[in-house]
Amino acid sequence: MAVIEGIEIQHIGHSGFRIMHESKAICIDPFKAPKGGPADIILITHEHFDHCDEDSVERLRKESTTIIGPAGVKAKLQGVTVISAGGQKVIGDIAIEAVPAYNRNKPYHPKGLGVGYVITIDGRRIYHAGDTDRIPEMKSLGSIDIALLPVSGTYTMTAEEAAAAANEDIRPKAAVPMHYGVITGSKSDAEKFKRLCNCEVTII
Ligand code: ZN
Ligand code: ZN
Repeated sequence: MAVIEGIEIQHIGHSGFRIMHESKAICIDPFKAPKGGPADIILITHEHFDHCDEDSVERLRKESTTIIGPAGVKAKLQGVTVISAGGQKVIGDIAIEAVPAYNRNKPYHPKGLGVGYVITIDGRRIYHAGDTDRIPEMKSLGSIDIALLPVSGTYTMTAEEAAAAANEDIRPKAAVPMHYGVITGSKSDAEKFKRLCNCEVTII
């Protein structure tokens, strides 16, 4: 658990995070999520097993939970509100925007398979990149307070690419590395990202 830019964030496995806002919990890509309170909102970036973990979602969902994901997630989970890049949802005082996420120099994540999310809470904007390469759309996200970025390489950006995206395109106030240590990448990728990044980096 860390408090970054005034926002309480817990890393719940791989690219999984739980963000607390007052008494509401927003979970993104929970993976082998530890037990904890149920989520009010669950955001899934794409259908791959390391992001769309059915067991974790079942553990975290309650009757009133809103689950949002791209079309491919619908086949794996019940009750998904489908979103695609450019789509927006407002739930209470939390605004959620789906943004592009895709590979440019590898085949795993073609355009349209997955999304990233920009979540606005109390005027602060948190960007979860999903599985993506460094893409031109990162320059047009608007002001980002916290960027959650993959650093493992192979299926996503490497630590160097993620740091370049943060320093030159996204320019967040703070960043958190993700997507290492489960299938590819290790803590050394997270540390390399921290070394190369100009902004405050927290390894949770
Ligand atoms: Zn993936
Ligand atoms: Zn992945």
